[in-house]
Amino acid sequence: MELWYTEKQTPHLGITCLIKETLCHFQTPYQDLAVIDTLQFGRMLVLDGMVQTTERDEFVYHEMLAHIAMQAHPNPRHVLVVGGGDGGVIREVIKYDSVESATLVEIDEAVIEVSKKYLPTISAGLTDPRVTVLVTDGIEHVRNAIGKYDIILVDSTEPVGPAIGLFSAEFYANIYRALKKDGIFVAQTESPFFNRDLIQSTFARIGSVFPLTKLYLASVPTYPSGLWSFTVGSKCYEPEDTHRKTVSTKYYNAGVHQGSFRLPGFVRELLEGSPREAQINV
Ligand code: SAM
Repeated sequence: MELWYTEKQTPHLGITCLIKETLCHFQTPYQDLAVIDTLQFGRMLVLDGMVQTTERDEFVYHEMLAHIAMQAHPNPRHVLVVGGGDGGVIREVIKYDSVESATLVEIDEAVIEVSKKYLPTISAGLTDPRVTVLVTDGIEHVRNAIGKYDIILVDSTEPVGPAIGLFSAEFYANIYRALKKDGIFVAQTESPFFNRDLIQSTFARIGSVFPLTKLYLASVPTYPSGLWSFTVGSKCYEPEDTHRKTVSTKYYNAGVHQGSFRLPGFVRELLEGSPREAQINV
């Protein structure tokens, strides 16, 4: 008998994967958590029925969430990752010798524990001596951090449950305050096919706080629609610029850095209604 896992990406569309083995499945204090081994994408972390990361395509998302900011900033030393309990973004951040501290703030300890146990290639960086793991609400942590970080990367679940507040105007204002005077912030901001309103409102909110606000894209096969967006807010450095620092990657490179900001018309039009401060790619 075949067993298939299906994520309903919209009420009318799903992605379905043939399962080799269910490695764990339980309810945490925050969400339903499963790690399944699939024939197509290897091991997969699923939260509340939604794919978070898989062994076979995680490199795209984690590299693109981390390296645009890490390369646009000339000397990132103190980095904060909000969410990201699987450790993939932390793994990318600590590839830079300039990093003195990388802080992970994940609300659900179970995500960290199962990632260490079942996703070692993704969570490998969590034991680096420069990494501090805090199990707490990222909203509170950012509210209490003033001028502390060069880079803040928000690797959150979709805006449901504890992640709702990670998409609010108040949170973005607190992010701005938690950054140093030349800091850069990046958030994953969902699919231009299925989450158009969210992308438009998030871009406007970030654009009303940061002088330089841009959106870039990457292809993530296991995320809804396969096309994913990231919104970057920068206090002074141009997000499209790269310092071409040497880093070992499988998806990110200097050409991809600049090309990811070249947006198709159906995405650019989402940004047109945003406040003057937000830079629109021309
Ligand atoms: N890459 C995935 C995506 O784009 O959907 C996200 C992966 S990561 C596992 C998402 C993490 O955000 C989850 O582990 C979840 O527990 C965490 N999270 C959600 N809300 C949070 C909050 N308020 N503070 C800290 N972590 C939070």
